[in-house]
Amino acid sequence: MKSLFALFGNPVHHSKSPLMHNLAFQKLGYDGCYTRWLLKEGARLRETFLALDLKGANITVPHKEAAFEAADIVEDFAAEVRAVNTLVLKEGKLYGYNTDAPGFYRALQKLGEVKTALIMGAGGTARALSLYLRSQGIDVEVVNRSAGRLEWFKAEGFVCHTWEGFDATPKDVVINTTSAGLEDNSLPMPKALLDAALAQAKYAVDVIYGKETPFLEEAKRLNLPHFDGSEMLLQQGIIAFDYFTDHRYTLDEIEKAMRPFLNL
Ligand code: NDP
Repeated sequence: MKSLFALFGNPVHHSKSPLMHNLAFQKLGYDGCYTRWLLKEGARLRETFLALDLKGANITVPHKEAAFEAADIVEDFAAEVRAVNTLVLKEGKLYGYNTDAPGFYRALQKLGEVKTALIMGAGGTARALSLYLRSQGIDVEVVNRSAGRLEWFKAEGFVCHTWEGFDATPKDVVINTTSAGLEDNSLPMPKALLDAALAQAKYAVDVIYGKETPFLEEAKRLNLPHFDGSEMLLQQGIIAFDYFTDHRYTLDEIEKAMRPFLNL
């Protein structure tokens, strides 16, 4: 019987995950089908997953914390950041994983050597990336619009800033994890803040993909090497696919099957 998979989030209309996973199913000869499912904030994630008879799902904004709550068993790293982006049903139990951070790290390694990073934003993605990058020996600072979400980072021992009076020190990479620029009507980040953050960086990376955000426009204007979230999307998808298909293929095989979606 065909195994069904979905992406849950709001918005999901822009997502390329179905294209990426369906291409890999087809190329690797796996009998699966992946679709996207708009789920409003507060919706019953676990019930929806089970009602749709899914084998697995990816979870995006704003449901990663809800997915953490919905899972029966959560791998250590996802539990630490309380953010799950991959759910898999195995023997009646929902397993939760976070593939964003290891996927992002795999993407970052393609840039060159990175020892220091500034993360803009303090949501689920920022939590996952900050801890994971630190575990790989990268020194991380965080800057966010409001103070509330920075409490977690302070408790974890990260140097944190709000926008007000922010004065960046030089960093190898500046990473935008805010959803500013995701939707055309989202409020842009102040240009002065972007300039302060990017002025002395070597690279700029946005986790949003498929569009040039004001953050990437500014990086381009400053002639900084930069990339959007496409490589991260690919790399987190490779690791999720590995969980979805119970480690049936090597990561290299999955990457080879999936990578062409970037040019579709
Ligand atoms: P969250 O909702 O958990 O956090 C959003 C963060 O963005 C908060 O820090 C919030 O600040 C900030 N923010 C929202 N709007 C604005 C704005 N207009 N100006 C400045 N800051 C803003 O989201 P996630 O961390 O889960 O996801 C963030 C982004 O990462 C999304 O765009 C998502 O699509 C992308 N993503 C991409 C992936 C990929 O594979 N390429 C994988 C995972 C995520 P405040 O606290 O002040 O509200």
